Amino acid sequence: MDKHIEQLVKIKVIHQKNIRSLTISLEQKRIDLDNITTFLSDYCARSGDEADYLFKVKHSLEMDRISIGNMLKDQNDALKIVSQLIKKYCNHEWIIDYIDIDVEKTDKITYCKICESSSL
Ligand SMILES: [Zn+2]
Repeated sequence: MDKHIEQLVKIKVIHQKNIRSLTISLEQKRIDLDNITTFLSDYCARSGDEADYLFKVKHSLEMDRISIGNMLKDQNDALKIVSQLIKKYCNHEWIIDYIDIDVEKTDKITYCKICESSSL
């Protein structure tokens, strides 16, 4: 495999891994925020240090969510660029494969043996 393309494919895999873990992390922050928002609305009759603390936690979760969202956007943009570069510079070796959708239907797919891009 071309050394240059091999490096780009490795970088692409890193972006894909980052996107997966950032997506999970963003979903967890959303759940945490929902929980704390519910808790705070049940809690509103009381105040003081505990409420202050909970508002601080909520604020920090909101900030985390924004920064994770930005990181996710950057990773998606980077993935798009690296995928375009691979598609452009790889000396593709196309493989035609058939996958069974169900007993009656088979789909034909074409992908590159080197970079795994689809021909479409
Ligand atoms: Zn290729």
